Amino acid sequence: MTKRIFSGAQPTGNVHLGNYLGALKNWVALQHEYESFFCIVNLHAITVPQDPSLLAEKTRDLARIYLAVGIDPQVSTVFVQSDVHEHAELTWVLNCVARISELERMTQYKDKARKQQENITVGLFDYPVLMAADILLYQTDLVPVGDDQRQHLELTRDIAIRFNRDYAETFRVPDAYIPKLGARIMSLSDPSKKMSKSDDDPNGCVLLMDDADTVTKKFKRAVTDSGTEIRFDESRPAINNLLEIFHLITGKTQPQVEEHFAGKGYAHLKGELAEATVEFLRPFQQRVREISDEQLDKILDQGRQKAQAIARVTLDHVFQLTGLQNRAR
Ligand code: ATP
Ligand code: MG
Repeated sequence: MTKRIFSGAQPTGNVHLGNYLGALKNWVALQHEYESFFCIVNLHAITVPQDPSLLAEKTRDLARIYLAVGIDPQVSTVFVQSDVHEHAELTWVLNCVARISELERMTQYKDKARKQQENITVGLFDYPVLMAADILLYQTDLVPVGDDQRQHLELTRDIAIRFNRDYAETFRVPDAYIPKLGARIMSLSDPSKKMSKSDDDPNGCVLLMDDADTVTKKFKRAVTDSGTEIRFDESRPAINNLLEIFHLITGKTQPQVEEHFAGKGYAHLKGELAEATVEFLRPFQQRVREISDEQLDKILDQGRQKAQAIARVTLDHVFQLTGLQNRAR
């Protein structure tokens, strides 16, 4: 049987190079090998405050981005999380399997809660259980994500194993697919932090929808390390990050990249990086603009139907096992 992948991104903020290089790029590559489900996780988005009309708009924008980077709706299932109510229903059941103590250990929760301090929602705390439901509903084999999601994937596996043990074999236990390079693209202004949609500093992230001038300015302003040599070296995180982006955008191997910049200065690296990124973004942005509302509606409708048919089977099984299915059959 063809193996399945599931992944998603939140329709919040703006999609950046980290999202692309850590996740979306791999979705595109894997979709022909796996039966693929790519979700726009708007239920996750409301775990922190959102402007409702903007959220609806961003949901459609993100769907366009999925398609424009190369997700093929003929091959992959693209859908919106809230369109398939089984996600919320399975979350409730899994809430009764997950333990508070394990959620309290989640570093993403601790980081995001620290930023909010007051008015931390139960939803923010429960975010990883909703993510487990997303993945387990589709009997997923592989979850291509960035490195920041490693801990959530472990929790998903723990929840699946516990449910299977306590009720009966139900969920496939998924593996994370985290690329060696690109899994943690760092902020251009602070290479100790990951590039993040919810970062307040606009200069840290190169957005997929940034225009050429903005991209160039952001790379120009990027912080660098002391020293002058341009080579992959994890002890010099700023340059390492810029080189990793260059390697992934251009497809040049690491030795080729180092050779290419041998004897050159940081300004040169930043200039070439900006050029390569702009070159990559131009046709992508054109494709984003070409997708009509009608096309999008049709793709998301088909996606909902395909996703829901599979999610329904898993949820029915879960309802039977947990005693929630109570009609005579
Ligand atoms: P937020 O900070 O609001 O959580 P985000 O930038 O992490 O936003 P998400 O929508 O949560 O974006 O994540 C979508 C995908 O992008 C996930 O698979 C995540 O692991 C990946 N990802 C996010 N940031 C990076 C990064 N800096 N480098 C590589 N992958 C990343
Ligand atoms: Mg995130």
